[in-house]
Amino acid sequence: MGDSAYPASWYAATRDASADRPPLAARIEADIAVVGGGFAGLHSARLLALQGKRVALVERRRIGWGASGRNGGFVGPGFAARSGALIDKLGLEHARRLYAQSQRGVAIVREAIDGLGRPDICMGPLLMGSGKLSVSRTDQGPGFADRTRALAQKLGATFEPWDSARVRALLDTSRYHQGIHDPSSFHIHPLNFALALAADIEAAGGAIHEETEAVELSREGTVWRLRTPRGEIAAPHVVLAGNADLGRVQPRIARAVLPVATYVAVTEKVGPGLAEAIRWAGAISDTRRAGDYYRVIDGDRLLWGGRITTDTREPPRLREMMRGDILSVYPQLGDIRIAYAWPGIMGYAPHKMPQVGEIEPGLWICSAFGGHGLAQTAAGADAVAAGILGDDARWRLFAPFGTRWAGGPFGRTATQLVYWNLQARDWWDEKRQAENAETLRT
Ligand SMILES: Cc1cc2nc3c(=O)[nH]c(=O)nc-3n(C[C@H](O)[C@H](O)[C@H](O)COP(=O)(O)OP(=O)(O)OC[C@H]3O[C@@H](n4cnc5c(N)ncnc54)[C@H](O)[C@@H]3O)c2cc1C
Repeated sequence: MGDSAYPASWYAATRDASADRPPLAARIEADIAVVGGGFAGLHSARLLALQGKRVALVERRRIGWGASGRNGGFVGPGFAARSGALIDKLGLEHARRLYAQSQRGVAIVREAIDGLGRPDICMGPLLMGSGKLSVSRTDQGPGFADRTRALAQKLGATFEPWDSARVRALLDTSRYHQGIHDPSSFHIHPLNFALALAADIEAAGGAIHEETEAVELSREGTVWRLRTPRGEIAAPHVVLAGNADLGRVQPRIARAVLPVATYVAVTEKVGPGLAEAIRWAGAISDTRRAGDYYRVIDGDRLLWGGRITTDTREPPRLREMMRGDILSVYPQLGDIRIAYAWPGIMGYAPHKMPQVGEIEPGLWICSAFGGHGLAQTAAGADAVAAGILGDDARWRLFAPFGTRWAGGPFGRTATQLVYWNLQARDWWDEKRQAENAETLRT
């Protein structure tokens, strides 16, 4: 399949067998045409198909080929933009409603997984563990617990503070201090989930075409015409869910989203040493802006993600880099070997919030979910599907974060600067605290 082959990931090696879906080679009509076979497109198509709408989805490569089939697999509420920043920008009530929409995304994923547990479309376990622990690499000081509880209460969230002793009882590393535990989060096999969603769309009567790039979009009256190399979909609604890779179908939107690369590695089986270092079956991340995220999978393998860069080329020594990152936190895992390492592209807008809503009559966007997309794509798709069905309240929650950067000559440069700035701040925070600790010791 050339460019459309899945990357050599642990997910691809353990994916459910599913037949290729033929490219679109005809003119068809639908109620909704969807561009993109990642979670944003799949959830949009599925939610609408379940409401009896005729949906037709086109995917340039294969279902789950993009970020959705190669991510960390963590499902949890919130957005890439931090909740405190959202409260400052939007006020508490608006931020709280957005958070509730992200919780709705978590619930949609959970309900879908419960409903999809059918052996004919899902052979392996989709839900792989529960709980998420977000740990700090700097000491958050004595007010941490109260601040965390106050924020959770304001947002209507379920997360709770854990002190350093509780974190270190589970994670045998001196790198970490306090943590935030969210029992509502869980982790999954994302590629198998994407394939299961696709099968469910088809079971509900939807059409899916792989290796079908949407290349042109035009409007005639109330009908949109979405052209592909060998076919066309005519529909009153189109959902653009192409993440950072939308291409020429809507260059204005494509330019508004910056592709940011991040990486995942999966070790060979580690043996009992892994359970001694990590005594926690949930997902773990650190709170740096460009932090590590990891979980134990397949009994005793470590799935480890991290790093961000705007250079989307795969680094030549990716495995060594990822192994070094693991050992910098857990040096006791000294002889681990990396079985798989792969890059993935996240789509970010400069404000770090997704772009969700109707941008022209009948033209919808559901994109730019950044590094928080598994539940948030479902939340965005739910808002878009509700809008198409006549309820605009949910997608309007996202209106302050529209595509206002679209086409702006400085859009990408601005995002790039934002990210360099974030990485630099992580580095400074840790360095400053290490120096303070050193000063106290001497
Ligand atoms: C390595 C990595 C780790 C991550 N870890 C997590 C995590 O643990 N938890 C979390 O919540 N989020 C995580 N994320 C983010 C999350 O994966 C994404 O936000 C989410 O998957 C985005 O889904 P999407 O459908 O918008 O994009 P994608 O999955 O990228 O799908 C977009 C699809 O659209 C197709 N497409 C684009 N243009 C066209 C076109 N013109 N015609 C036809 N098809 C087109 C592409 O081929 C692609 O398949 C991670 C991301 C990466 C890369």
